[in-house]
Amino acid sequence: MTSKNIVVLGASFAGLPMTHYLIKHLPEEYTITLVSPSTHLYWNIAAPRAIVDPELLGKGKDDLFIPILPAFEKYPSGRFTFVQGKAVSTSPETNTVTVQTINESMDVKQVNIEYLHLIVATGSSTAGGDWAFKAAGSGTDVATRAALGSTRDKIAAANRIVISGAGATGCELAGEIGSKYHKSGKHVTLLSSASGLLPAAPPSVGKAAEGHLTKMGVEVRNNVKVTSETKKGDVTELVLSTGETIETDLHIATWGLVPNTSFMPKDLLDGSGWIVTDKYLKTPTHSNIWALGDVTHWGNRGIGAVAEHYKSVSTNVLAAITGKDESSFNEYKHKDDLALIVPLGPWFGRGTGILFGWKVWGVFAWALKGRTYMISMARPIVEAA
Ligand SMILES: Cc1cc2nc3c(=O)[nH]c(=O)nc-3n(C[C@H](O)[C@H](O)[C@H](O)COP(=O)(O)OP(=O)(O)OC[C@H]3O[C@@H](n4cnc5c(N)ncnc54)[C@H](O)[C@@H]3O)c2cc1C
Repeated sequence: MTSKNIVVLGASFAGLPMTHYLIKHLPEEYTITLVSPSTHLYWNIAAPRAIVDPELLGKGKDDLFIPILPAFEKYPSGRFTFVQGKAVSTSPETNTVTVQTINESMDVKQVNIEYLHLIVATGSSTAGGDWAFKAAGSGTDVATRAALGSTRDKIAAANRIVISGAGATGCELAGEIGSKYHKSGKHVTLLSSASGLLPAAPPSVGKAAEGHLTKMGVEVRNNVKVTSETKKGDVTELVLSTGETIETDLHIATWGLVPNTSFMPKDLLDGSGWIVTDKYLKTPTHSNIWALGDVTHWGNRGIGAVAEHYKSVSTNVLAAITGKDESSFNEYKHKDDLALIVPLGPWFGRGTGILFGWKVWGVFAWALKGRTYMISMARPIVEAA
């Protein structure tokens, strides 16, 4: 008998809304299995502040991690199964995904799960280490909370901090550390390998960020990157592309994303490991394997893109299951427009960004994101409210 099980891999901004949608819209005989290493959604958008001082998120700090399972109790039993674990391999020939489960006693077990359709929403991880900008370690909320705490302790203990990578994450982190510790004597250096900060945005946006950060005592250096790093006891020695060697107590690399796709057949990935999809967001060679969110090859990774992907995948999976052909599919229209809001600490008016091609004033960046890191958006994602 053909399986009537739809498997969703990953329970974050992309996977959670998809799972709710499928349970709500698929005929009753279909079941949905959600696979995730974490039982909680991590609002990693607020990571730069949570890493430095979660108390600055106010009541929002309670929503940094939101439990997933209570939000699925409202559905009829038998429709939905949650498997805590990580996909480790996929066999499109047998329509099976193998999952390494995680349980409280940390016994490692592998289970094979058959699928009628496979929806991959496993996102990305940061290339520069487990600082908790995204789910950390094994991916459980326990591991991510531990990584948050460990990064926070290291920042508190360090007198000299080098942040390499001056995209949004690097600038936001520099702003949070600069605001909290500006009177403490900590020396924070932010290195940009480009000619300015926030190189994806027009230069005026990077200049605004540089102005704010410099005022709070952050040393900004452009056109320089770290070429090697050596730990010498408590001190880290960094060799820079300028040929200089500098010492620091802590080096936090914030550049780069890597795809979470080690379990996917290589012929479904591009040269950098992202899943290649067609305009319907299914893989070109397998009409029952879909991808959405950061994990796709489309780029412009952010929650706006996730929402656009969701519109197509939700419509198209439902259409495919109910026997409709591609003429009723929703076409994903990729946009490369940059939407970037970059708060630079919790202080009023500190921040910059670009929205609809316009530079964002500090006061707007603060009001839109810097005040609360938009944490009130987390619960509706989990609860499909
Ligand atoms: C510090 C920071 C701040 C950001 N701020 C913003 C912002 O302000 N605005 C914005 O639009 N974007 C922002 N982003 C980008 C945003 O976080 C991503 O676009 C978003 O997380 C993508 O969601 P996703 O569901 O596709 O993937 P992810 O959020 O990466 O989630 C993937 C999930 O899949 C799980 N997973 C991984 N491997 C497996 C596996 N093998 N099996 C099963 N599950 C697996 C992971 O543990 C994770 O839970 C920020 C990113 C960072 C790092």
